[in-house]
Amino acid sequence: MSRTIAVVGSGPGGMYAVQGLLDKTPDCRVDVIERLPSPFGLIRGGVAPDHQKTKRVSKAYERTLSDERARYLGNVEVGRDISVPDLLGMYDAVVLAYGAPHDNRLGVSGEDLPNVYGSNAFVGWYNGHPDFKDLAPDLEIDSAVIIGVGNVALDVARVLVKTKKEMSVTDLVPYAANATEASPVKDVYMLGRRGPVEAAFTNVELREMGELENADPVIDPDHLPGNIVADYMSDRDLRLREKNVETMRSFLDMSHAEKDKRVHFGFFLSPVEILGKNRVEGVRCERTTVDANGKVKGTGEMVDIPAQLVVTCIGSRAFPIDNLPFNDDWGTIENDDGRVSDRLYAVGWLKRGASGTIGTNKNDSLEVVDKLIAELDGAERDGCSAIDKHLSDRSVRVVTFDEWQIIDCLEIEAAPEGAPRKKFITAEEMISALEATQANG
Ligand SMILES: Cc1cc2nc3c(=O)[nH]c(=O)nc-3n(C[C@H](O)[C@H](O)[C@H](O)COP(=O)(O)OP(=O)(O)OC[C@H]3O[C@@H](n4cnc5c(N)ncnc54)[C@H](O)[C@@H]3O)c2cc1C
Repeated sequence: MSRTIAVVGSGPGGMYAVQGLLDKTPDCRVDVIERLPSPFGLIRGGVAPDHQKTKRVSKAYERTLSDERARYLGNVEVGRDISVPDLLGMYDAVVLAYGAPHDNRLGVSGEDLPNVYGSNAFVGWYNGHPDFKDLAPDLEIDSAVIIGVGNVALDVARVLVKTKKEMSVTDLVPYAANATEASPVKDVYMLGRRGPVEAAFTNVELREMGELENADPVIDPDHLPGNIVADYMSDRDLRLREKNVETMRSFLDMSHAEKDKRVHFGFFLSPVEILGKNRVEGVRCERTTVDANGKVKGTGEMVDIPAQLVVTCIGSRAFPIDNLPFNDDWGTIENDDGRVSDRLYAVGWLKRGASGTIGTNKNDSLEVVDKLIAELDGAERDGCSAIDKHLSDRSVRVVTFDEWQIIDCLEIEAAPEGAPRKKFITAEEMISALEATQANG
């Protein structure tokens, strides 16, 4: 009998673990258990709809799932349809890769006002994640504040200001396309407690802000340092930051005359309160300074920025399933370099917190796979048939990889001209379209 391993979650963390297991253990069988019918986690539900090239990484994951030793069990939620102890009873090892989907809190008053959202919710809404389809943000606004100065903040800003034409080649879901196209928003402010040197943008994404059809980036020239002094940064980091500052300097030459919308880079501003009575009206910030060691200090000077929409892009955290040990400080499952307990492992954002790119997950998952393989015990468990019986006894409608590929084709066929796909949103929509296709042969 071969080794059987369950991987919970089909985002990048999980998929690199599956590939590693298949490569390094020829006689293994891997079941990938995913709560949604659609695979690949944030590749579908997080990566910006206008970054289709980035989403193409899913082609590699599709090849992994096409291996006859791998099975995809979509529409199966661990903690609801099956528990982690159940899985440990069935499989030789279990790899948890269910991500970090809960938005961090800003911790200031006014945060719960209507039209204030975390990025996970807002990004999930425009990407058609079923958990956020009913978010219905009000985009009948003049100005928006995005709290955070990283790539997710840039994603949100682009989606808010790009034109219908720019978004027509994306898979932005129709309800979000209608809302963003109709939005009269003129000013989008991205706020960071630190300065342009510390901002976590990658240069390619930053440059995009200077190439928008109907929006210009606006930056205070006084915020751009002549010489960068950042003793706490490595030489490599410093070079990357210098490139970013150079890109931001190129934004100063833009005229701001011909375009309707502006994206303001609001550096050295620390939000202290979300203002408003019945809904958000603005964000009160304290001006800050940053010393050569990167330490932020408040100056006591307050600035109010008008905003009828606020999106916080300040990271996210995981949550414990089935009372697994949880590290509240880090927002991760408690683990020792990926090992949670006997035969139980964690990878991806669940293991190390919400940071890094898609590629960061690869080496990380492979290291955990090496550990898992070295620790496999002598017993062999027949996971695959045991889980099939468990799910069938509970009438769980499992979506297989072949079935996902049918759903995928239906989405691609339904795409408006120029767009890559028209997404189904809910599990019910996907499964009924799938079953209608199957019934028609
Ligand atoms: C908005 C946003 C944009 C990003 N854009 C980029 C980008 O352009 N380029 C880049 O390199 N990186 C980007 N990243 C980072 C990248 O997406 C992450 O590094 C990566 O997705 C983390 O992978 P993961 O597998 O840990 O988590 P996830 O991708 O979140 O995958 C977790 C999976 O587990 C499933 N799951 C959750 N709970 C359960 C359960 N109980 N049972 C079964 N399955 C479950 C989820 O449905 C999901 O499919 C972005 C991140 C965000 C938030």
